[in-house]
Amino acid sequence: MSVLTRITREAAVRLFGPERCITRMPRTGDSGRPSVYLTFDDGPHPERTARVLDQLAAAGARATFFVIGRRARKHPALLRRILNEGHALGSHTWRHWGARRLSTAAWMNDVRRGREEIEQITGVGTDLFRPPFGELTPGALWQLLAARFRIVLWTHDTRDFLLPSLPELRSRFLEAACHDGAVVLMHDDRCVTSYVLEHGLRDCAASVRFQAIPGTGSGLPTPRRPIRQSAADLFCPAAETTGPAVSAAGAASSWRFS
Ligand SMILES: [Zn+2]
Repeated sequence: MSVLTRITREAAVRLFGPERCITRMPRTGDSGRPSVYLTFDDGPHPERTARVLDQLAAAGARATFFVIGRRARKHPALLRRILNEGHALGSHTWRHWGARRLSTAAWMNDVRRGREEIEQITGVGTDLFRPPFGELTPGALWQLLAARFRIVLWTHDTRDFLLPSLPELRSRFLEAACHDGAVVLMHDDRCVTSYVLEHGLRDCAASVRFQAIPGTGSGLPTPRRPIRQSAADLFCPAAETTGPAVSAAGAASSWRFS
């Protein structure tokens, strides 16, 4: 994270309060059963987002999905499923460009287009927004708040986009899930992420409340029946979870959105 982004984030929390610029959620004070807020960026992905939703449903867990508008347009049914299953939806821009890559005006056009796509698909507006790469500039921050977005950052980055090994990612997931009020950054377009969720959610099911971030992007309160899945559905190619050469290439190609 750049120094400018860090200073801007800290200033945002001080100026606008933790409700408009969320870096963590309020603690419940129940250390025996903490509330943890899983967040998934960069979807929807036709297979992997569906698999993440299956895992959450099986565990009775809720989460928040920050979707890229141009991907949402290709897979609108997944957005409706996210809301129908009690999760929250937020915007992650239209093209996934960082705030420092464009002028503030051009970047905000991308931001608004992403939110409009969600509204057109679901009929539900959202005020939740996560900036790509966590990048913020003073101008972008001011415009976001003027457009009545709530900015959601995170307390724990699992770094699943770097395609770590399964034990490494599982360890980070379990560590984050111990913290009351934690906002955990993950990516639902990563195969390794859904694979870790299968184990991680089961490990924590009795001891952690996984919740969606409340707001206008929140889904319906009644969850649908979990969808059954076979072991074959969970197949995760080894090349995607191990091996630095393959991982680096995969990561590079996966981050090209334009
Ligand atoms: Zn992203």
